[in-house]
Amino acid sequence: MSTPDRRLTNKTAIITGASSGIGRATALLFARHGCNLICSDIREDARPDRPEATPLTTVAECISLGARAIFVKADTSSAAEVEALIAAAVSGFGRLDIMVNNAGVAYDGADPQPIWEYPDEHWDHTIAVNLKGVFLGCKFAAKQMVGQEPGASGDRGWIVNMASVLGIGGTPNSASYVASKHGVLGLTKTVAWDCAPHRIHVNAVCPGYTATSMTAAFWDNKDVRARLDGMHPFRGLGTPEDIARAVLFLASEEASWITGVGLPVDGGYSSM
Ligand code: NAD
Repeated sequence: MSTPDRRLTNKTAIITGASSGIGRATALLFARHGCNLICSDIREDARPDRPEATPLTTVAECISLGARAIFVKADTSSAAEVEALIAAAVSGFGRLDIMVNNAGVAYDGADPQPIWEYPDEHWDHTIAVNLKGVFLGCKFAAKQMVGQEPGASGDRGWIVNMASVLGIGGTPNSASYVASKHGVLGLTKTVAWDCAPHRIHVNAVCPGYTATSMTAAFWDNKDVRARLDGMHPFRGLGTPEDIARAVLFLASEEASWITGVGLPVDGGYSSM
């Protein structure tokens, strides 16, 4: 087993949605743990409204931390692009140990609508990225992992899907996001069964509200911010690094007997 401070030495990981927020924090943490990285997104630069202070792209910062890292552009809702993403990892690094299906979109913070007004295009795009994107990431990553030799621990791979506390419970005016994240948890459970005989771990993380571009729409509204802070009994909103540490755990040999779970990382939100 690798040492706790370099837990992913000689492992290769793909992280989707890696240019900002939780995906970026996960890539940087994996880089510190010795992982080779394929950072993927629909654009290499982070969103202009991102809270991150550094001007470096995720890949540039991973390389500055001593990791081998490349950027591969891929829209996770496209089967052809996700298949090519897995192929790029294998041609660059020889195998794929870890797939983090993190890319996601949310319309409901900026444009909350009850079901009778809910825009079809918000539904279609959210389900395409948040649910079909995770399905495609699981499908093509598992296809590669099933065919590769197991590592020293006996495991062939680790898949971590980004769900949400809104995959566990509901909230008003959020039909597509809540449905997509409930779908991610269901998908995680069934894919875990398919993959278990091949020693591939498949788990999900369920973040509470976390300070990223996705929630930046709330920052300026003090009342909304205070209400959301109050829904997280431990320490208010999370940071991307809080979530990245849980992804690292589920993507490592430390999670030796864990598969098919949705781990809340939410300051207690889902215990209410
Ligand atoms: P973010 O907006 O900072 O990052 C999302 C990234 O996904 C962006 O870099 C974006 O370019 C990328 N992306 C969007 N569509 C894509 C596509 N079709 N293909 C590839 N990449 C695409 O937001 P974040 O908060 O870091 O979100 C990361 C994940 O965490 C999402 O799945 C989100 O639903 C989930 N999540 C976020 C929160 C939160 O409060 N921020 C809470 C629970 C779950």
